[in-house]
Amino acid sequence: MKKLTAIVSIFVILTFSFHEIAYVSSSPLLHHAKQVHEEKSSTVRNLEQDQKHAGEVHCSRERSRAARKVIEQYLTPFVERENYHFSRNCRLHPENDIFRDQEEHKIFVDRHDWRCGYCRKVFREEKFLDQHFDNRHSNLLNVSHDNCLADLCGALHCDAVMNSKFSRTKCYPAAAAKNRHLCESLADSCFSISQGPSASCLHELFIHQFCDAHTCSGKQKPFSRGGKEQSSFFRLAAGALILVLLPVFYLFLYLVQSDMKGRTQELRRISKAGWKVKPS
Ligand SMILES: [Zn+2]
Repeated sequence: MKKLTAIVSIFVILTFSFHEIAYVSSSPLLHHAKQVHEEKSSTVRNLEQDQKHAGEVHCSRERSRAARKVIEQYLTPFVERENYHFSRNCRLHPENDIFRDQEEHKIFVDRHDWRCGYCRKVFREEKFLDQHFDNRHSNLLNVSHDNCLADLCGALHCDAVMNSKFSRTKCYPAAAAKNRHLCESLADSCFSISQGPSASCLHELFIHQFCDAHTCSGKQKPFSRGGKEQSSFFRLAAGALILVLLPVFYLFLYLVQSDMKGRTQELRRISKAGWKVKPS
């Protein structure tokens, strides 16, 4: 009897496991499950890798990205207008960025389709591609001193593009002074006044755009000289929408008015008829 029970239970377990395997392999979610597993294992690998490289790379990818965004948005348009080229000593030189090569090998297809430009692997989110870069292509990092853009975040107001609540955070005068000093030294090393009119013009712009706002008075806002026109597309779209909606609105008004007119005339007719009928 005991034997029979054991055999039956083994049979049930085997059938159940087979069913599970068959379900998973026939499931359309197989690809997804595989990807999730891959991501999980890649996270584990990433942690191991992080521990291994803990002594090598001390640069935040996220903050470096924010610094790059600030530079591209609020400085590059002016630098290009002046046709100015950064010297290699300037920390804003594109080559002085640890993650530049990897960022240039990011292929964005859509929100849930990010590809690695080195090996063409596909990822659902940008953060998984970042982890993949850390795991598989960290040998391509341009590791040398003074090329971590995240270190310039204090001077460049990265928080303004990373966190919308930045203006509400408390201001510390000592930190503001330190950031201003870093900001001014960046201006001096990248736009040396002795290099000519373009450099001195950009030096002045850099001070206004980034350094003047490093104060706790709150009077100066960063990026006071503006940046790349990103809103032009939206402005154009809004204009087009208004142009389309305006005639529709007037047509609606006209229809409502004519309908009201019709109803008042009808009411008048009814009341007149009522008056005529009453005396008889
Ligand atoms: Zn890859």
